[in-house]
Amino acid sequence: MKSSARWRRNSKAYSLLAATLLASVVAAVALDFTSFGTQFDKYAYDFLFRLEQPKPWQPGSIVLAIDEKTLAKYGSIRPALADGLEKIAGVHPRAVAVDVILDAPGASAEVDANLETAFADTPHLILASYLLRDNSWDEPLARFRKHAAAVAQVHGDFDAYDSVTRDLPLANVGGHDRRWALALQAWLMATGRQVVESPDDLTAGDVRIPTTSGEWHVMRIRYAMSGIPRVSIAELDANPALAARFADKVVFAGDTEQAARDSWMTPYSDRLPVPGVEIHANAYETLARGLFLYDAPLSLVLLCCFLLACSTGVIYALTSGWATSAGAGAVVVVSQAIPAVAFANSVVWPWLPGTLTAAFAVSAAAAWRLIVVRRQLLESMGEKDRYQRAMQFVTHEMRTPLTAIQGSSELISRYANMPEAKRTQIAQTINSETKRLARMIETFLSVERLSAGQMELKQERFPLAGLVESCAERARPLAERKRIEIDVEPMPADDLIGDRELMEYAVYNLLTNAVKYSPPETRVRVFGEDERGDSVRLSIKDQGIGMDRKEVARIFEKFYRTKRAEQSGEAGTGIGLSIVEQIVTQHGGSIHVESEPGKGSKFSLVLKRTHD
Ligand code: ADP
Repeated sequence: MKSSARWRRNSKAYSLLAATLLASVVAAVALDFTSFGTQFDKYAYDFLFRLEQPKPWQPGSIVLAIDEKTLAKYGSIRPALADGLEKIAGVHPRAVAVDVILDAPGASAEVDANLETAFADTPHLILASYLLRDNSWDEPLARFRKHAAAVAQVHGDFDAYDSVTRDLPLANVGGHDRRWALALQAWLMATGRQVVESPDDLTAGDVRIPTTSGEWHVMRIRYAMSGIPRVSIAELDANPALAARFADKVVFAGDTEQAARDSWMTPYSDRLPVPGVEIHANAYETLARGLFLYDAPLSLVLLCCFLLACSTGVIYALTSGWATSAGAGAVVVVSQAIPAVAFANSVVWPWLPGTLTAAFAVSAAAAWRLIVVRRQLLESMGEKDRYQRAMQFVTHEMRTPLTAIQGSSELISRYANMPEAKRTQIAQTINSETKRLARMIETFLSVERLSAGQMELKQERFPLAGLVESCAERARPLAERKRIEIDVEPMPADDLIGDRELMEYAVYNLLTNAVKYSPPETRVRVFGEDERGDSVRLSIKDQGIGMDRKEVARIFEKFYRTKRAEQSGEAGTGIGLSIVEQIVTQHGGSIHVESEPGKGSKFSLVLKRTHD
């Protein structure tokens, strides 16, 4: 196959590869945006969450638990809470966050009075509120509220599909009132910090808290693997010495019953949900330890997907055999390693886009290769077939002069008394047939040498008009047999520089093709035109069988012949045009074809000319 044709084919194949890889990236990223994709990313997040745990730490928070035993002992939440708070007041916790909504009077005025006293005895007290559907706050009663240093909100953010609480809104807005989450408020109170709000994050002193979802400021919670220490009020009542565990801690008080409505799954949950109050304590730990998780920027994720797809493309385009398999395996491994390495560095990298990109890209590239290899196989089979047919023709062609030479030489040796005139005629036949044979061999060798770049072109100067005229003269006898008129129009008076013999071969070939592939009694026009710059255009136009676009694209391949040409009954090898093209390009020119089936063809040579 000609190298430019191969390049065209290859570039077409590579464009196909690039397009399928691009489609893989687009499909992978698009799937990630579906709820199906988002959910997969969350499961992968949970997996990495369990895999990549931060170093264990000593929690700075503790849960004052209102559990089953406490409720059995005290009967309800409020008396238990009042007693529990009184018992730990003496050890001075850093802050006390109460995760109980106290929006209405309790069953007993005495209990409420005790609770109010307990609140009054608790410095750094934070009470809970909840945003109602009508956008108003479900507030603690004024008698309780007046003892609180702050009122926080206790909204959770569990996943709609799997009920797992992975993050928490740090802010919530009701009317004009924006409230911080219980955990954030407790941390601010314990550390004496103030918060500065910006659309992408919250800043408290020297700590930047990465958040998402705008004014909600949603923060991912890093759960403590070993859980938050918990002391129930019933235990505390039985063993008051346990109060020491609350010293200097941030206390989260709330309902921890298994049956409580306020219990949620976490990435660590093993079937058993975690009480809401413990989730708030975990959010506090995330803030206090600065164990933040950052979302990977989308642009970086997209870039990585593109790089994965590009690498796959390079691997499939440049390697073969086991190297391709190893490369494809490496792409898949890298696609899995990126989210894991990112998570180890506290960056949450969506798992699905890279995974799908790798899977789609590898499958697409493998399919591409299968198609391209199959096509190349078919092509080489076709080429071999054409080559064999051409060889048959060549041997047949060579046999004709050989038979003539053989016969003539036999005649001479057999008849010693042959008349002189006859002997001369036979000698001439032997001479001309030998020359024909030599020319044929020379032509075939020239092609090979030309394509191997081994042939030196002669640099003669000759007139274009003379070249065309001598070729037309040689082609006329062939044309006359089909009553075809070769009409040579006046040529521009330019000289060409190059190998006259080879150029003659090229023009003669185009002329004989025009005659061969035209019906009888048609006309072949030969005309020259000035081209821009230092070139001249020589065209040979026939009224013959023509070709379609696909055929035109292939006629310069060695041994290629169109179906129409084969059916025409004209003998040919399909090699002539490949020689013509090589001769013309070696001379710094180019060849162009316009053709229409049934209407005719126009072959044009654009050649360099000299003026002076
Ligand atoms: P050959 O004529 O020996 O078959 P060529 O290399 O000269 O080989 O031409 C290749 C093919 O291009 C031809 O077999 C024919 O199918 C097509 N072809 C060339 N010239 C013409 C023409 N003037 N009109 C129609 N088809 C042509």
